[in-house]
Amino acid sequence: MLNREIINWYELNKRDLPWRNTTDPYKIWISEIMLQQTQVVTVVDYYYRFINRFPTIQDLAFADENVVLNLWQGLGYYSRARNLHQAAKSVVENYNGVFPDSFDEILKLKGIGVYTASAIAAFAFHLPYAAVDGNVNRVLSRLYGVSESTNSPQGKRLFQSLADELMSDAAPHIYNQAIIEFGALQCTAKNPACDVCPLQSQCFAFINKQQDAFPVKKKKVKITDRYFYYLFIYSDDHFLLQQRDDRDIWRKLFEFPLIEASNKLDLVDLIKTKEWLSVFKDIKLEITEHISRKVHKLSHQNLHIDFVHVKVESCDLNKFDSLFLVDKESVVDYPMPRPIEIHLASL
Ligand code: SF4
Repeated sequence: MLNREIINWYELNKRDLPWRNTTDPYKIWISEIMLQQTQVVTVVDYYYRFINRFPTIQDLAFADENVVLNLWQGLGYYSRARNLHQAAKSVVENYNGVFPDSFDEILKLKGIGVYTASAIAAFAFHLPYAAVDGNVNRVLSRLYGVSESTNSPQGKRLFQSLADELMSDAAPHIYNQAIIEFGALQCTAKNPACDVCPLQSQCFAFINKQQDAFPVKKKKVKITDRYFYYLFIYSDDHFLLQQRDDRDIWRKLFEFPLIEASNKLDLVDLIKTKEWLSVFKDIKLEITEHISRKVHKLSHQNLHIDFVHVKVESCDLNKFDSLFLVDKESVVDYPMPRPIEIHLASL
């Protein structure tokens, strides 16, 4: 059967990944959340650091949120870290600190969708749930020549039923790992290794030379451009920070004072904006540097980020009453968006 061939391929080709050597649902959960939107090679180090710092779900539940976010720094999509923290608290409060062992209960935890609940149920508890991620969609769509889009509601139902059928009576924890790994290493998005694929003779896309036509996806949402001007307002060893609110990207992270514009501005235009004039009213300043960074891409936004360094007298720092003062040593205590972290590291 097809699933046996995928499992045979897996046994010969699988990578040795730390979360594959455990059935602890807590550790599997952490790895699955980190792997969303992030490459395996990047996740391995973060996974070890996170598990060493929070070896149990209780350690995570009782941790300070800023410490959790700091460990997450660089992985992006910080809502994942916040949801992990919230869900850990809920397991401690509602499940006596024991990770739930049924699909329905796992699915109730914050930040866990159908794929992640299926993966945890299968990997940790060997329950018969087929986990369908992008890798699985790609393999199934090519094997069976599915022209339904993977992200439509009908498509999701169809791919789930194909995956359930393909899993059949195979061991769920092995089958799921096998097909996900097969998609990640063999049936890759670009240049799938069809020449050495054991499924060639049964693959619709290979037989019809249509590998690039699958999977079919609905058109992408529009990408918006945003223009951020970060003001690095400093004196001696101190500079100013503010905390973002929770209505936009990078919720509750810390950043330099920000002027956002609807288009690209040069420095001459920036210092004439009403935001600049209101920030620096009655303050003696010297602009010491203006750096444009390369575009920072988020899923639906391109951020064009400039950093403007503004030196002021140390007594002036106290006039910015909506901002707070930080010294260089204590900056590690504040979780920040990746571009700011990179900028600070370059100073
Ligand atoms: S033959 Fe190519 S497209 Fe088909 S399953 Fe194998 S790697 Fe994927």
